[in-house]
Amino acid sequence: MTFNTVYADIQCPFCKEKVTSGVGFRIGSLANKNYKPGEKIGWEGAHCHPSARPKDGNIKAIGYFNCDNVKCKTWSDCYPEVQQALITVKNDVIEKVEVYKGPLSGEQFEIIDPVQGGAQKRRSSKK
Ligand SMILES: [Zn+2]
Repeated sequence: MTFNTVYADIQCPFCKEKVTSGVGFRIGSLANKNYKPGEKIGWEGAHCHPSARPKDGNIKAIGYFNCDNVKCKTWSDCYPEVQQALITVKNDVIEKVEVYKGPLSGEQFEIIDPVQGGAQKRRSSKK
């Protein structure tokens, strides 16, 4: 699965250390690009997620990271599981990357906002 990575300062929910972690996410054209907060997301090409740029270029989606605390011997010292981060894109620019503890549908790289196809699209049979 192709995704992009944003390198952001995040406070690890486990060790509370501020780490600069690569967060894998799927917004805009998916091409294994590396971003930093403040940079502009590209929507060029056919391989975009979601398939069309949201209105005004505003979108929030879930990304994934492991704690990169160098004081831990391995990242699994800190937390054995992949952590979720919320990536906020405003006007195509990565505005915020923060630890996300909210509810999730279980969908990978879930888009939180704008809600995709209405509040309860999951069991929709419309095609
Ligand atoms: Zn940590």
